[in-house]
Amino acid sequence: MPKAYLTIDDSPTAETEDLVDFLTARGIPAILFVRGELLEKNPRAIEYAIQKGFIVGNHSYAHKPAGEMKYQDWVDDLELCESLIEAAYLNCNLPRPKKLYRFPYIDRGDGQKNEQIDMATIKENDQTLPLQEYLHKHGFEQPFENMPSTCPNKAKDCLYTFTTRDWMLNNKHRGHHNIKTIDDLKARVDADKSLQEKTHNHVIIMHDQLGLFDISCALIDYLSEKGFIFQD
Ligand SMILES: [Zn+2]
Repeated sequence: MPKAYLTIDDSPTAETEDLVDFLTARGIPAILFVRGELLEKNPRAIEYAIQKGFIVGNHSYAHKPAGEMKYQDWVDDLELCESLIEAAYLNCNLPRPKKLYRFPYIDRGDGQKNEQIDMATIKENDQTLPLQEYLHKHGFEQPFENMPSTCPNKAKDCLYTFTTRDWMLNNKHRGHHNIKTIDDLKARVDADKSLQEKTHNHVIIMHDQLGLFDISCALIDYLSEKGFIFQD
């Protein structure tokens, strides 16, 4: 059976608590990568997720591509989201298990914004290294085990191996892309041969965005039907 980690970007929304309840009912663990500016407006949803045992990761405050930011602005943005995440754990009276960071658009500082990254082609360079150094110095970790051998082993940000492209069906984007229905998302899963690989764990990206709740549930159930075992 292929094993996978489920990661959900862009929380919270008005649908977060329903998504948490759905995953809890299915016994599926996930990391929620939160956007600070949304967390600030809706801390209750993220505190609910923390109380239900979900891990919260940092997905920046303002969701800007790092490659278009000055270094210090990137640090300030990351730390602003950090302070909100720390406050959420404090309000729940629970220890924070790990410090995790995922770059918006997976732009790791060099302006490379690839919707489907290929770990084998990701290379550290003069623009990404200072940011990786910052993450390393401040205790951010790459949390996943048994990654593909091509995963850069010093990367401290949270990369992924498969993007579902579910965001193309959110309220804002629905109808504007080649993916138009849940069946198109399922077909992408079926067509991707790399997802059948059992020698390493997969890291799947989904999104917590308005209008996606039913889609998320259907896709998660489909992945489970296909035999994916979601790892803690
Ligand atoms: Zn995002």
